[in-house]
Amino acid sequence: MKRKTSNPFTHFHTSRTSPKWCPVCFHKLDSVSCVTAGEVPRVGDFTVCIECASVLRFNAMMDMELSTLEDIPTHSRMLFARMVTTLKELQRVRSKPRPN
Ligand SMILES: [Zn+2]
Repeated sequence: MKRKTSNPFTHFHTSRTSPKWCPVCFHKLDSVSCVTAGEVPRVGDFTVCIECASVLRFNAMMDMELSTLEDIPTHSRMLFARMVTTLKELQRVRSKPRPN
């Protein structure tokens, strides 16, 4: 039975893609997470680098270019803003020194 995705903020479907590199941190990105199962990135789609939390956009060559939250259509901007905020919080937590 296929699981319904009722909340786009908590349910993502991850699929492998051909390797791309973040233009900001050069992290290798070879998978994407989409709200809809079976979706693959297309020219003009936005994404967020899992490593540096930069907002990126697939160009005509399907490489990633630096973009901004303001470039994202308003109906999706809040979702991306939450992803960026969450990734930056993870980076902050990871960079904290751990108690011995
Ligand atoms: Zn990056």
